[in-house]
This record gives sequence, C-alpha cells and structure tokens, in this order.
Amino acid sequence: MIYLKTEDEIELLRAANQLVATTLAEIARIVRPGISTAEIDRVAETCIRDHGAEPTFKGFPNPYGGPFPGSVCTSVNDVVVHGVPREEDILKEGDIISVDCGTLLNGYNGDSCYTFMVGEVSEETKRLLRTTKEALYKGIEEAVAGHRIGDISHAVQSHCEAQGYGIVREFVGHGIGREMHEDPPVPNYGSRGKGKQLRNGLCIAIEPMITQGSHEIYMMPDRWTIKTRDGRWAAHFEHTIAIHHGKADILSSFEEVERIEASRQ
Ligand code: MG
Ligand code: MG
Repeated sequence: MIYLKTEDEIELLRAANQLVATTLAEIARIVRPGISTAEIDRVAETCIRDHGAEPTFKGFPNPYGGPFPGSVCTSVNDVVVHGVPREEDILKEGDIISVDCGTLLNGYNGDSCYTFMVGEVSEETKRLLRTTKEALYKGIEEAVAGHRIGDISHAVQSHCEAQGYGIVREFVGHGIGREMHEDPPVPNYGSRGKGKQLRNGLCIAIEPMITQGSHEIYMMPDRWTIKTRDGRWAAHFEHTIAIHHGKADILSSFEEVERIEASRQ
C-alpha cells in the first residue's frame, strides 16, 4: 500500500532528513585515516540524539539474525551495504566508506547515504563515486509526477552500466514516511514506462548501490555485512525526495558535506 503524504507530512520528513544531512556533515568533519568506524558511529548517534531524534537503524530487526548494533551503517571498500561499526575497523588512506544514516524525528523518517573518501583516493575510485552520485541525480531528474518508477530505475541503470559498473539487485530504494521502508520499492535497474506512476505526495528514497565489477554480493557471517563477491569496491549514495508540485523536492541534502569536502581539496 502506497501512502501519499500531505504538505505537513512532507515538512516533517524534510526535518528528519535535514537532521540526517547535519549528521553526515558531522561525519564529513571527522573522516580521516586512523579513525575507527565505531567512532564514526558514536559521533552520529550523539548528533542524532542531541537533536531529539532516534537513530532508526539502532536495533533494527534482522530476518537472519540479531538486531543491528550500530546507529549508522559503515560500509568500507568492498562492503556494499549494512557494514557494522567496530572499534577494530580503522580507516586507511585511500579507503572509501559509505555512511548510511536514518533518523526518526517526530514520528517521521530520514534516510540518506554518502560515500566518503578517506584521505587521497585513486582516480579509479573517484570515478566510481562520481558516477554513482551522478546516477542518483539522473534518477531524481526522472522523479516527476506522471512518470513511473521504471523511469527512475532505467536512468540509474543506464548511466552506471554505460561506465561498465554493476548494479546491485538485492537491495533497492523504497517509499518512506512513518516507516523507514514503505511501498513502493525503487530498484536501480528496470525499464522505462514500467511500474507505479509517480504522484504528488509520493515520498521515496532513491539509492544506487554500484559496484566496480560484477554486481554479485554475499552476506558475511555477522548476518549484516554485504560484500561484493569479486572483492571490488562499491559506492552508495541516497537521497529522500518528495514528488511535490509535480517535481522532485530533495528532502535530504549533501550541501554541507560537499562544502566540507571542497574545503579539503
Ligand atoms: Mg539509507
Ligand atoms: Mg534507504
């Protein structure tokens, strides 16, 4: 069942997503070689709770095992999604880390992910990150009233496959509202003109998960961490958007993160 949101609900979702943006900016300030993923998790949890919200991911139930132990997912290099923050996982120069963050504020969810560079990364890695982020915005461009979910999916897939990258199939974007995961699913692969029609009030998370090599993945014994089967790296960028006045209204934001990244160049 798809729940279309009212104007008031879109503003509540915007507030939750702006808090995700604030949290990702806090992380942008501290990502560097030598920091642990557990430290990133602590900074994120403090930021979220200091703003009167809950980290949605903490304790998130798992159909395969125990609840998620962290407040954010910290997915390093060949980890695609759902990386578990750990004291012993220390970032190194040249790594990449996708930090996926969810907040529950006043009953509504924020959900956004950014892949950060740790120190100086290779040109090959930069191209993966650039292409994945571009694909996210190509998808968002298609998110207008009257289009269909497949138009978003096709835009993401064709942009990444043209660059020779893999598109993860098992994890997809989603509707968002009072629940973090609502209908409809928003795959990163598909055909133009197919799927549910986009209408004003539809709120969705668009989140390309893109691999340098094959799109095949596997689950680690911790029953959370998802890695690429071939060991090549993966990137993940996510925005929550509303179809609002016929167009995509991006409720989350990378603005502050990108300002911090640019100041480091
Ligand atoms: Mg997410
Ligand atoms: Mg999501």
